[in-house]
Amino acid sequence: MAGNPDVAEEAGETPEGTGGAATGEQVLSIMKTVGRRLIEPLREDDDLENFRLSIPETQTTTIDGDTGWAKRPPAVLRCPQCEEEFYHHHARDAIDCPHCVAEFDPEEFPDLELLYMTCPRCKSRMDHGQRHPKAFDVPEWASCNGCRYHWEFKHSY
Ligand SMILES: [Zn+2]
Ligand SMILES: [Zn+2]
Repeated sequence: MAGNPDVAEEAGETPEGTGGAATGEQVLSIMKTVGRRLIEPLREDDDLENFRLSIPETQTTTIDGDTGWAKRPPAVLRCPQCEEEFYHHHARDAIDCPHCVAEFDPEEFPDLELLYMTCPRCKSRMDHGQRHPKAFDVPEWASCNGCRYHWEFKHSY
């Protein structure tokens, strides 16, 4: 409450007469008003919260899978040094070829040859592709023909 120095000064100048009782009542009425203001927005928030909670349910019925690069399915890459295939499980892990000494940062993913991604549910080989090849150099979707799991780089809506 560093707010209003003027109010503090006026309060300090009324120690005499009936001023003291009046400020006491004022404080009470202010507290009542503040109390009402606190309760009413809380009720509105309750409704908002219920509304928000209903949104994820509709999403899971329309998208059976995951979105976002962090949830990208495990990828099978070809090592540019030894030409062997190896798994890159998580999008944020270092890319480390188990067949030779080649190592890459996760950001270098687009530089490596992506052979396919594997379904995190049923381990099937997934189809993948791009929606904006000029904007992104990484796959933007992957779809499993086995269990219908679908991954999207971004929300499409
Ligand atoms: Zn290698
Ligand atoms: Zn699957």
